[in-house]
Amino acid sequence: MTRYKESKQQSAELLRLVLACVGQHDAACNPIAFAVWYEHVAGTNPRLNVELAKYLQDEPRLGDAAILRLHRDCIAGIDEATAERVRSDVSRVMGDLSQSAAQTGDSASEFGQRLSQLNRSLESAEAADAPGLAAQMAQTLASTAQMKSAVDALHQQVQTSQREIDALRRELERTRDEAVQCPLTKILNRKGFDQRLQAMLEGQSPARAGGSLIMIDIDHFKQINDRHGHLIGDRILAALGEALRLGIGAAAAASAARYGGEEFAILLPGAEIAQAQAVAEALRLKAKMLKVRQRGSDAVLSAISVSAGVAALQPGDDASALIAHADAALYRSKQTGRDRVTLA
Ligand code: GH3
Ligand code: MG
Ligand code: MG
Repeated sequence: MTRYKESKQQSAELLRLVLACVGQHDAACNPIAFAVWYEHVAGTNPRLNVELAKYLQDEPRLGDAAILRLHRDCIAGIDEATAERVRSDVSRVMGDLSQSAAQTGDSASEFGQRLSQLNRSLESAEAADAPGLAAQMAQTLASTAQMKSAVDALHQQVQTSQREIDALRRELERTRDEAVQCPLTKILNRKGFDQRLQAMLEGQSPARAGGSLIMIDIDHFKQINDRHGHLIGDRILAALGEALRLGIGAAAAASAARYGGEEFAILLPGAEIAQAQAVAEALRLKAKMLKVRQRGSDAVLSAISVSAGVAALQPGDDASALIAHADAALYRSKQTGRDRVTLA
């Protein structure tokens, strides 16, 4: 392991690694073990790391005896300069951690205090204070273990709550969507349409204020029902609903709705009449391409066509005025031969 650079984040990471080592091995969590693991993860004691690697080959989970021997052979006999460096490194790590621990709240504050105490002692430590330091180190380690399990429990609790909140949020979204969705065509129902239209009128839509409305009506749908039956009629409505939903996919903030019966509405917030006309034309062609097959056979039913009326929002228009303009244009499409788009 390479020598750690001086940084607060790395100090916390260093301590995390020390705790991980303590957790992975069988040796008791005491100042001696702490010193061994600290030196190991900090990468400041090459001899220790060489010896440690040898020990780990025979014993993947080191016990007390191995830790004691490593400490005796590789740490206890270190020179005064190294001892001082280790002491100041530990002091820095503890100092940084005590700061962040103190911010973690009540459960952590005692831990923070212990670390601060230890930090102060380390800063003023003389060789003669070693037994006192060891006792504080032991206390700190006990707190560290407590803190770790408290943090783990909190972490698990947060994850569980997060999952519950996510499930509730999905359920809520589903219920909310269902309230404004037509079950047959899977696009907005009349209620959803009214809400979106109101939002467009109030300029609440994500796009800029203004917008256009396209009203679409299936041509001679009664005949289709009469010829093929209502079930086929329903499948055509469902297929057209999907075609409209996919067809407006690219238009930002647009929404498709089943206005009622075999009539559909497309809201295009922010769209000028020319843009809306282009969308209506594209949707009319899509409707003509729809292929609904008879169940149990490959026979494709005769193609449908739709008529459309397009109106752009005029200053002073309310919901019913805009709908009336688009409806009037749709009526003209029907009058002039169907299968076409007419502008208001
Ligand atoms: P036009 O071209 O003038 O619009 O002729 P049309 O036959 O489409 O219009 P009309 O208003 O005469 O008939 C609409 C038909 O749509 C009658 C009704 O049975 C049918 N319809 C309305 N809602 C549904 C539905 O949910 N399922 C089915 N299968 N048919 C429906
Ligand atoms: Mg019709
Ligand atoms: Mg109709």
